[in-house]
This record gives sequence, structure tokens and C-alpha cells, in this order.
Amino acid sequence: MFELTDEQKEIRKLARDFAKNEIIPVAAEYDQKAEIPWPVIQKAFGIGLWNLNIPEKYDGQGLDHFTEALVYEELAYGCLGVFGAFGGNSLALTPLLISGTDEQKDRFLPAFVESARLAAFALTEPNAGSDASAISTRARKVGNEYILDGSKCFITHGGIADLHIVFASTDKSRGIKGLTAFLVPAGTPGLSMGKKEDKMGDRASHIAEVLLEDVRVPVANRLGNEGEGFKIAMRTLDVTRPAIAAAAVGVAQRAVDEAVSYAKQRVQFGKPIAEHQAIQFMLADMVMAVMASRALVWQAAAKIDSGRVDSMLSATAKCVASDTAMKVTVECLQIFGGYGYMKEYPMEKLVRDAKITQIYEGTNQIQRQIVANLLLK
Ligand SMILES: Cc1cc2nc3c(=O)[nH]c(=O)nc-3n(C[C@H](O)[C@H](O)[C@H](O)COP(=O)(O)OP(=O)(O)OC[C@H]3O[C@@H](n4cnc5c(N)ncnc54)[C@H](O)[C@@H]3O)c2cc1C
Repeated sequence: MFELTDEQKEIRKLARDFAKNEIIPVAAEYDQKAEIPWPVIQKAFGIGLWNLNIPEKYDGQGLDHFTEALVYEELAYGCLGVFGAFGGNSLALTPLLISGTDEQKDRFLPAFVESARLAAFALTEPNAGSDASAISTRARKVGNEYILDGSKCFITHGGIADLHIVFASTDKSRGIKGLTAFLVPAGTPGLSMGKKEDKMGDRASHIAEVLLEDVRVPVANRLGNEGEGFKIAMRTLDVTRPAIAAAAVGVAQRAVDEAVSYAKQRVQFGKPIAEHQAIQFMLADMVMAVMASRALVWQAAAKIDSGRVDSMLSATAKCVASDTAMKVTVECLQIFGGYGYMKEYPMEKLVRDAKITQIYEGTNQIQRQIVANLLLK
């Protein structure tokens, strides 16, 4: 049984009010413009809803994963694309937080709390999506430097971040065991933004190609040892998947709330459609699925906070919550009938947004593969 502390209730309320007052009113505009919502990020920074996972030692918020999940559900309730900036940063800073040396943290983290800045986690490549062993970005050690060459795609904050965490191969013959992670600060010559993607949903979040040509970083910018990159990436995703799952719960809860309110006021056959049992059962099934997903998210996040990261639980939370978000948003659109299909109403955006939660941070096929592998081990 999870009982929220007063502090957790307070920050959840802060995030809920922020979503209501600052995100929902501008969500459609940023969805249409497909732009990063900088004014929203600046306001979030101002009230302490940014840099949630940076430890207090570095003047960050230092939230545990459970509390972070509470906040992310609320932000994504407002708009998944806006949440993308928050979640993208949290994802990108996690490798530094879990594998960086004190010297690396001292060097890179303070800038993130001085002002609202972006970080990027650059793993995916055109020919290496689910299969990280196919990564072809290379890192050659020359003297006291590594020289990186290659390209990444679909990178949240790609090319515009203040810090890119780049996963490259230092030994191609070793596959995933030859991957190494590097900290590449903005302004490093040779790193540039390629094509910015025009997405179906999640449109307030920026994703783009990252081009790396003769990018030189000092050995001191290597995260962990050579060959530890894949391990760092997987440990990162174990920790961040519950955050994506929390966001998926936010999207699903929003869809249910919109559908409940619509069903109460839409009259057909002489009574509100909410009085038709078929609609009532749809709503009941959906809210049950959302509650079950939330319970899984809370359990997965609490497990991480207990110091016993559980890959199976993190993958399960991500998979169940995102499948729920997809199913629930589509069903809620159905409750809106033809109006649900119109851009004037909130449902079509929620359907477009929900879809990405089944794809990023590992597709749900990959989550099932993780669960099956652990189950059969
Ligand atoms: C909006 C958005 C944001 C993103 N942000 C980032 C980011 O910040 N950093 C980053 O590094 N990446 C990011 N990505 C990339 C994302 O993580 C990948 O798209 C995802 O991992 C899948 O890779 P892929 O697109 O190449 O698909 P593929 O790997 O080519 O998969 C295609 C299909 O085959 C299935 N499949 C593949 N292998 C198997 C298998 N072994 N068994 C069963 N089915 C399989 C997949 O599930 C999928 O359905 C982002 C993507 C998007 C769309």
C-alpha cells in the first residue's frame, strides 16, 4: 500500500496546477507549431519543476524516482510533447548521474541548475534502433583524446542540447561489449544537427539527427570504461522507463477524464450517452486499466528508490502503461464519436501522443523480449 507523504502530495499538486494553468492552455499551439515550449520550461525552472533528478548536492531538486513519476504523470496529463522536454533531460542526465565520476558531475551538472538547459541521450542510429550492437558511430583514441565519427537519429534535443551523451563503438569486433559512452558538450567542433523530424504526435518535443564529424573529446569525457557503454545505456533505461510509463498514465487519465465529461453532456436517444451501459462499461474498463498501470509505475519507481533496480518490473510498467495509453485513447475517441476525430476536440491529439510511448525508450516488443528473457532465464 502506497501512502503519499505530505511533501509528495504538495509537489504533485504543484505539477497538477502547473499542467492546468501553464501547459493545457498552450498545448494545442505547440502541437501545431511543433516547437519546444521554452516559456513553459522557463516557468517550470522558476518554480522548481525542472532538473528533478539532479541531486540536491548540485542544487537540483533531488527527487526520488517515485516522486519524479508523480510529477511526470501530471505534466503529461497536460501535454505529452511538453513532458518530452522534461523526460528527455531526465533520460540524458541519468548516465552521468549513475556512471559519472565526481569530477565529471562537478564539471557538467552546475550549468544545468544555473539556467534551464537541455541534454540529449544519443544512442539510436539509422541502422541501429532496437539492435544497439549495430551501432556504427566510431570513437578512436588518439593520445589524450577520442575522435568520434558517425550519425545518430531520432535524438530528443539532438543538436540543440548543451550536453550530448553519445554512445559509440571503441571496438566494433566486440558488438555491444565494444560500446563506450562520451560526454560531448555543446560547441564541440564537428557536432551538428541534421534533419529535424516532423512527427505525428509528441510534437512539442524536438527530435533530430546528430551528425558527428571528427568530434574530439578529452579522455576525461569518457563515461565509465571502454566497453561499458551498453551496460550504462541499459542501466539508464531501467531507471527511466517508469518515468515514460508515468507519462503514459497521464495521457490515459486525461483521455478518460475528457471522455467522462463528454459522455455526461452529449445527449443521444433522449439521455446523456453516459447513461448507456455500453458507454459506462467502456469507461469502467478504461479507468481500471489506468489504475492498474499507475500501481505498476509506483511499484517500479519505488523499487528503484529501494536500490534494487528491477529490469523486469521497469519493462513491465513501461509496456503495460503505454499499451493502456494507446488502447484507452482510441476507445475514448470512440466515445466522442465523429467529434473525437476533429482537431477542435482533444482526443485526436491524445491518440497521436499516446502512440510514441509504445516506441521510444525501447519498443514494446523489446520490453516483452526483456520480460520473456528474464522469465525463462
Ligand atoms: C519521438 C522519439 C524520440 C526518441 N528519442 C530518442 C532519444 O532521445 N535517444 C535515442 O537514442 N533514441 C531515441 N528515439 C529512438 C527510439 O528509441 C527508437 O525509435 C526505438 O528504439 C526503435 O528503434 P527503430 O525505430 O530503429 O525501430 P526498429 O528497431 O527498426 O524496429 C522496427 C520494428 O521491429 C520490431 N523489432 C525489432 N527488433 C525486434 C526483435 N528482436 N523482436 C521483435 N520485434 C523486433 C520493433 O519492435 C519495431 O516494431 C526516439 C524515437 C522517437 C520516435
